[in-house]
Amino acid sequence: MIKNKHSLPVLIVGQGLAGTILAHTLDQADVPFHILDAPKNYFTSSFAAGGIFNPVTGRKLEKSWLVDELFSYLFPFYTQLEKSLSGSFFHPMPLFRPFANEEMKSWLLERKESIDNEYLRWTDEGVWIEKAGWLDVENVLNCSKQYFQSKNIRQEIALNPSSDLEILREKILFQGQAYACVIFCEGFHAQQHNPYFGHLNFLPAKGELMKIKSNDASQEYILNKNGFLLPLGNHEFKVGATYRWDDFSNQPSTLAQLDLKNKLKSFGVDSYEEIEMSTGVRPATQDRRPLVGFHPHLPLAIFNGFGSKGVSLSPYFAQQWLAEWKGEGQINSEASIRRFYHLFST
Ligand SMILES: Cc1cc2nc3c(=O)[nH]c(=O)nc-3n(C[C@H](O)[C@H](O)[C@H](O)COP(=O)(O)OP(=O)(O)OC[C@H]3O[C@@H](n4cnc5c(N)ncnc54)[C@H](O)[C@@H]3O)c2cc1C
Repeated sequence: MIKNKHSLPVLIVGQGLAGTILAHTLDQADVPFHILDAPKNYFTSSFAAGGIFNPVTGRKLEKSWLVDELFSYLFPFYTQLEKSLSGSFFHPMPLFRPFANEEMKSWLLERKESIDNEYLRWTDEGVWIEKAGWLDVENVLNCSKQYFQSKNIRQEIALNPSSDLEILREKILFQGQAYACVIFCEGFHAQQHNPYFGHLNFLPAKGELMKIKSNDASQEYILNKNGFLLPLGNHEFKVGATYRWDDFSNQPSTLAQLDLKNKLKSFGVDSYEEIEMSTGVRPATQDRRPLVGFHPHLPLAIFNGFGSKGVSLSPYFAQQWLAEWKGEGQINSEASIRRFYHLFST
């Protein structure tokens, strides 16, 4: 138990989506914090994200992990955040999954009764998914940066966890200031540079998407067919996304570009203007569960491993992180890093 918990601020390292959502959660609970983020040339996942939240997954349209809990939390959280930041970034929007072909259609319709759930609405052409939508992640990060800067609690700096922190038993010193805890929200960089948590089960996945302008697609819904076509307004769309596990550079690749153009063809979008490519590395994990919790011996913590679902997972788990920090609850055991405590030496 850390004695200084309630008197000293905490230090959040990384202001991608995870660090941002955790920071707002602490802010709403009046827990004092400072936040550090590396300069823009640092490579992030969040700035490349499509930002989609979708309650079902896979070919069998199953409800995704913990969806009822996550989604009942996600809507009020982002709506409230829009109000407190005076921003507009949360966009609920229907999502349509057309049947891939006649064979898939009969396969699904034969199993409709066992597959069906409250998020699905079946039609002859495919299935509509309720409670889906997208978060304009870039906008959230930019509004939040301004908000933290206006409170004078954000610094642009790439922390070197090995040399910049003085870790004592119950507090940590950074630039002469004492903190009750340092929470690492470094995305996939943690695996490469973090001496305290880098050995956890990260499985980073590079992803690319393309922004286009076209009159060939509907602006009313997100199309999901082995990839997605996300309407941004003004006839602009994001087309995504690719997956790769062998390259973590921030260079767009011609292979990914080709893959995205093939997706556009399969969506029936033939005429379009390419605007830009975005590249990021998702902080995914081998067991597809987040990495949330506390170092077993030091006043350090982690909020990471949200893979391709940062938008829907991070608000709920920020709340869980805070509850465990305050001694009022425990993080879900599938997401808590307690599952890896045997990997930490004493
Ligand atoms: C192509 C693509 C499409 C995606 N689409 C979706 C989607 O539709 N829906 C969805 O929910 N998710 C999507 N994702 C995943 C989403 O981007 C992630 O889940 C989420 O953004 C992860 O956020 P993060 O803050 O953990 O990591 P990051 O965004 O990588 O942020 C980490 C931050 O930490 C900073 N940092 C790292 N180390 C240090 C240090 N030592 N000192 C200071 N700062 C540091 C970095 O500068 C960065 O700002 C997509 C990802 C990609 C790549």
